[in-house]
Amino acid sequence: MGDQMPKSPWIWKNGEFIPWEAATIHVMAHVVHYGSSVFEGIRCYSTKKGPAVFRLDAHLRRFLDSARIYRMEIPFDADALRDATGELVRRNELDECYIRPIAIRGMGALGLNPTASAIDTYLICWRWGSYLGAGALEQGVDVCISSWNRPAPNTFPTIAKAGGNYMNAQLMKMEAIANGYAEAIALSPDGLVSEGSGQNIFLVRDGTLITPQIDGAMLLGITRDSVITLARDMGIPVREQQVPREMLYIADEVFFTGTAAEVTPVRSIDRIQVGNGGVGPISRAIQERLLGVARGEIEDTYGWLWHVPGEAGGKAAVA
Ligand code: PMP
Repeated sequence: MGDQMPKSPWIWKNGEFIPWEAATIHVMAHVVHYGSSVFEGIRCYSTKKGPAVFRLDAHLRRFLDSARIYRMEIPFDADALRDATGELVRRNELDECYIRPIAIRGMGALGLNPTASAIDTYLICWRWGSYLGAGALEQGVDVCISSWNRPAPNTFPTIAKAGGNYMNAQLMKMEAIANGYAEAIALSPDGLVSEGSGQNIFLVRDGTLITPQIDGAMLLGITRDSVITLARDMGIPVREQQVPREMLYIADEVFFTGTAAEVTPVRSIDRIQVGNGGVGPISRAIQERLLGVARGEIEDTYGWLWHVPGEAGGKAAVA
C-alpha cells in the first residue's frame, strides 16, 4: 500500500509556493486539537497529452461546499484554485499524482469557537499508487462490515469532507486491518449499508447496479457519480436505493469507488465469497471504462479531464 510518507518539492500555501519542509503548523493550531479542517482528494493521471486532473471542478466545488458548511471563508475561488493546482503539478514535475487541497483553522484561539483562528489553505501533491494495495484493482479485496456505524444525520455533516469525520473512518480502518481485512463497510445509524472508510460502495444483482441512496451518513463521492453516469451510458440499469446489509452477501458483484481506490472489486465480505469470487464482468467493464477515460485512452465526452497547461504537459517522460 502506498502509505509511506510522500514528498514532492513544492506546496502551495495561501497563494505562494513554499518548500515541502516549510509547510509545518504549530501544535496550538485549532485543527490539531479539534479536527477543524476541510479537504479534498483528487487524482491527476498521465495521458498522451500530459498530466490531466480528473474532475477537478467537481472536487473544487465540493471543497468550497465543505468550507461553507463549516463557515470557513477560503479567500480563493475555484478559478484561482484550478490555476494553482496546474502550477503545483507542473512545478513538482509530476506526470501522475494525488492532489490534496486542505484548509485548516490555524493559530488564534483555542476555545471551541473557531472563528478567531486564521484559515490557511494549502495544495499538496504527491505520487500515490494503488490505495488498497498491489493487486487490489486486479484481484479485489477482502472486507468486513464494521462494528462502527457512520455518524447519524445532523451530527457530523458527511456531505462535508472534513478532517474530524475521519476519526470515525480511522476506527473502521484500524479494526478491519486488526481483523485481517483490507477495508470495512459501515452501516448507517439505521443499520443499512452506507459506505467504506474512504470509498462508496456498489453491488450488482441480476445485471442491475445498486448503490446506497443519499443517507445523511456518507460522502457524495465524485467517483460514485462518475460510475453512475458511465453505467447508464453503457446501458447498465442503475438504482440508488436503501441497501440492507444482507444484499451484499447475495450480490453477484460488489466494488468500491473512490478517488484513491478508483474502482476496486470486493471479493469477500465477512469471509462470505462475493459471487463466484473472481472480479465480475460489470465491475471489470466499469473499471476499464473509468480508468480509460481518466487516462485519456477513451474519448472524454463528459469534459472530466482537465489537462495541466504548460511545460510539464509536454514532459510526460518525467514520470
Ligand atoms: N466516502 C468517503 C468517506 C471518502 O473519504 C471518499 C474519498 N473522498 C469517498 C467516499 C469517495 O469519494 P470520491 O469518489 O469523491 O473520492
